[in-house]
Amino acid sequence: MSLIVQKYGGTSVGSVERIEAVAEKVAACRARGDDIVVVVSAMSGETNRLLALADAITDTPAPREIDVLVSTGEQVTIALLSMALNKLGCAARSYTGAQVKILTDDSHTKARIEEIDVERMQADLKQGRVLVVAGFQGVDSAGNITTLGRGGSDTSAVALAAALKADECQIYTDVDGVYTTDPRVVEGARRLAQITFEEMLEMSSQGSKVLQIRAVEFAGKYKVPLRVLSSFKDGPGTLITLEDNDSMENPIISGIAFNRDEAKLTIQGIPDTPGVASRILAPIGEANIEVDVIIQNVSEDGTTSLTFTVHRNDLNRARGLLESIAMELKARSVVTDDQIAKVSLVGVGMRSHAGVASRMFTALAEHNINIQMITTSEIKIAVVIDEKYLELAVRALHSAFELEYDAK
Ligand code: ADP
Ligand code: ASP
Ligand code: MG
Repeated sequence: MSLIVQKYGGTSVGSVERIEAVAEKVAACRARGDDIVVVVSAMSGETNRLLALADAITDTPAPREIDVLVSTGEQVTIALLSMALNKLGCAARSYTGAQVKILTDDSHTKARIEEIDVERMQADLKQGRVLVVAGFQGVDSAGNITTLGRGGSDTSAVALAAALKADECQIYTDVDGVYTTDPRVVEGARRLAQITFEEMLEMSSQGSKVLQIRAVEFAGKYKVPLRVLSSFKDGPGTLITLEDNDSMENPIISGIAFNRDEAKLTIQGIPDTPGVASRILAPIGEANIEVDVIIQNVSEDGTTSLTFTVHRNDLNRARGLLESIAMELKARSVVTDDQIAKVSLVGVGMRSHAGVASRMFTALAEHNINIQMITTSEIKIAVVIDEKYLELAVRALHSAFELEYDAK
């Protein structure tokens, strides 16, 4: 007998019929003798609908109230799924994050899980019940409802699996595994039988929303066996593996991730002297704005320019700060662009292969796609390009690295 944590995402619980189909699936697993903890998201579109309601009232809602509002989405699905399970004769009970309790810090809308109380859950499991837990939400030490950031139900599931020492955490979604790239963008994308934690971390951090990055971090840290599967059709899915497969025949590139979430800022004509980068970026960091890619260039007149990217939501704040820094430094100008996208190649095989970057740049050049910025890590090469060429770039790279074909 195993203990399995299963997470069903928004599309998988998007209607009463789908909730009933999930109940059948869960009840069948339970009937085979496994202990099951189910984590569910809100019905698809619900979190966005709730956020739009808040938006209709104010531009500056208190993050605490946002959390009270959006956490209701998951409360609906836990109740409905428990009812559907009970109707099938499968004893089930729903729990909100606060009831479990999933203790988090107090950073509303992006809280981090600190501790999970497993006693109540274990008592219920002993009684043979299926537990249905609301994803995405927790409670801080003062009793306030918190949420874990968009896509956070993945993290709830992995954290519960870690706390309960589950045998496997299964993420059921609307695709049947992790693909070489988003199958909605590249038709020939291929499902990966497995991917290493390291690669999955890069894929998530570079924009593949199939797993929230915190979920992957948790799974790596607590060694939770993690699998991504379809809630609509049976299959092996994708296993996220702990072992570094360096010794095996690795494909050079495992996947391509991309995002449209960033915007670019450039400050031009600044003095090329020590300390300038820090004078520019320190105030940005102090304002809690995360900077991603950075490049600095020296021009012939001895001045330099610095370009960096931030999340699009932070662009206005960052521009305001940069404009006042520009005045202080007597810089020539500040230019911003929010029509950019970032495309990243990810693969542990890159460590042992040279020439990946040039192959990437050649493929982009052949399609006349200009590269604005480049950044690399040991297992990733990312480029910033004009947003309008994003899909073309992803397709071009997918075929240049022959990801349609099984390299193993
Ligand atoms: P859920 O609501 O189940 O959490 P998400 O929408 O968060 O589902 O994540 C699943 C989606 O992730 C897929 O529908 C797919 O479009 C997208 N996706 C992006 N990159 C990948 C990838 N490399 N492999 C599989 N799916 C991906
Ligand atoms: N319902 C939340 C969201 O839409 C959490 C999740 O689905 O994982 O982001
Ligand atoms: Mg998701």
